[in-house]
Amino acid sequence: MAKYFSVEEMECKCCGQLPADGIDERLQNVLDAMRESVGGPLVLSCCYRCPSHNAEVGGVPGSQHVYGRAADVICPDGMSVDELANIAEECGADGIGRYYSAGFVHVDTRGYAARWEG
Ligand SMILES: [Zn+2]
Ligand SMILES: [Zn+2]
Repeated sequence: MAKYFSVEEMECKCCGQLPADGIDERLQNVLDAMRESVGGPLVLSCCYRCPSHNAEVGGVPGSQHVYGRAADVICPDGMSVDELANIAEECGADGIGRYYSAGFVHVDTRGYAARWEG
């Protein structure tokens, strides 16, 4: 289990479900490492999404969120999207999406590198 994040923070916001295999182990490690690097609490705007919740929020159908391999991390006060994205990079995230206007960074453990701006 993640050291700094509870099941409640990682389950689907609409129904409280988790993926059948649980939240990806490596994602939990990346999130914990980011938390340690930041040195303060990190808030996840979402982590696992069941397929219907994913469709509702306009996520792409094969989104890593549906597999429990992604989390959207809200920038803590005083930290920019780029700073948080650099921390995600150092902590070994595979997919890193920078969402400048919304102020969060998507991190995932899809198994190969992906970088984008949303
Ligand atoms: Zn749901
Ligand atoms: Zn995301």
